[in-house]
Amino acid sequence: MPGDGEIVEIEPRLPAHQSLPQSIKGSYDRIGDIAIVKIRNTERAAGLADAILQSGTGVVSVWKDSGIQGEYRTRRLEWLAGEKKTVSLYTENQARFMLDISKVYFSPRLATERMRLARRIHDGEYIIDMFAGIGPFGIIIARNREVEITCIDANPDAIHFMKESIKLNKLKGKISPVLGQAEKVMQRLPRADRIIMNLPHDSMNYLDIAKASLKDDGTIHLYMIGSIADTEANMEKIRINGLTVTDKRIVHGYSPTESLISLSLRKTL
Ligand code: SAM
Repeated sequence: MPGDGEIVEIEPRLPAHQSLPQSIKGSYDRIGDIAIVKIRNTERAAGLADAILQSGTGVVSVWKDSGIQGEYRTRRLEWLAGEKKTVSLYTENQARFMLDISKVYFSPRLATERMRLARRIHDGEYIIDMFAGIGPFGIIIARNREVEITCIDANPDAIHFMKESIKLNKLKGKISPVLGQAEKVMQRLPRADRIIMNLPHDSMNYLDIAKASLKDDGTIHLYMIGSIADTEANMEKIRINGLTVTDKRIVHGYSPTESLISLSLRKTL
């Protein structure tokens, strides 16, 4: 049975009485007992939604995602089948989160990346997550390491669900949720050992601000969406900004030509 956060590929077997094509295939994101389908064709999406509900995996509500929108990066959702619920309890790497899929950004596709990052962090570090959402990076790190993390987000609902999620977990480290624009909040914070920048379409525009808040031997973990050519152009921008790329990897595909890319950056002293 698939667990929370897995990206599930299914080929539903539809009951004989249904007139939908037998060949419906699809993938969906699972957040607790809610499934999110990203198929544009409404008939195919509805067929997949029914198949998910009947698959016995504990999903009770299925929504169609037509894209991420606005400053808060929330999903444009359309109800497809089952209960019309949007709040769910989600588990990832043994951490628990409470969230409303219609009010905050959340992607279960980053589960492996969050754990990979947590493993690289040492006790005693001070970390800033500039675009923290409900705080999944911070919570996964603080469950595993004795660190201090300031988690900033501009969306009041994200801060609300971050605070609820913190209560659901036994943390070794300390998280301070802060509501506000990262560029303003960072001015009054101490310099950090690490800065996490997960605003993939826009992170590059905040590089100066992050660099000013980074200790001389600190590391920035920046996520960006782009093609290999875009990445090369950004590498040049990064070099000009006085930073060096120490690690570059593809987290997952985003579109036929673009990927979510993770870069680790250090100050060039
Ligand atoms: N890091 C989180 C995660 O992995 O789930 C959320 C990342 S989401 C792509 C980007 C987040 O940045 C959103 O929750 C949005 O509200 C927030 N955001 C956008 N602009 C911001 C800003 N200037 N300052 C602080 N937060 C901002």
